[in-house]
Amino acid sequence: MSTNRPPKRRVLIRHAAIERRVREVARQITRDFKGQRVHLVGVLKGACFFLVDLAREIDLETSIDFIAVASYGRSSESSGQVRMLKDLDSSIAGLNVIVVEDILDTGLTLNYLLRLLRQRRPKTLRVAAFLDKPARRVQPVKADYIGFTIPNEFVVGYGLDHAEHYRSLKDVCILRLPRG
Ligand code: 5GP
Repeated sequence: MSTNRPPKRRVLIRHAAIERRVREVARQITRDFKGQRVHLVGVLKGACFFLVDLAREIDLETSIDFIAVASYGRSSESSGQVRMLKDLDSSIAGLNVIVVEDILDTGLTLNYLLRLLRQRRPKTLRVAAFLDKPARRVQPVKADYIGFTIPNEFVVGYGLDHAEHYRSLKDVCILRLPRG
């Protein structure tokens, strides 16, 4: 029997629903920051699809930057360790910063990022998370804008990967990983 079969996956959120929800979140941000500029800080790599779609739907002057941190490595379980892989290109002092995350899981990554970014004196600091998995929260952090709240399952697609696979799937899918 072959042990190399790809893990099974099941669609959780269809692309059409993602598009609709991203437009709604963008409208909410547009209302909240009426007449102001927003600076979107995408957390690489998972949030890049969400950030691009969101940025195009926000009807305000918008700038973007990216930061990269490592927490999961190649495993699907959080190590509890967060370290910086790539810092922002420019200062965020005085800006309306929205951290754009792919998924809020234990909250360790976001907790680390918010502490770091707060020290850099943005005018405002908010969080837009494409997905929220509240069941696994370890740190009491919350997102101001949430795409979808999902059950405690490992998901891929729309930017989310497993060992660099599946990021470009248009739908969000639950990946059934073999135990171990
Ligand atoms: P946290 O620090 O909140 O536990 O985890 C944040 C990071 O873990 C996310 O940015 C994402 O990279 C990864 N992660 C958490 N849950 C999932 C999941 O269900 N699927 C994938 N692909 N990554 C996840």
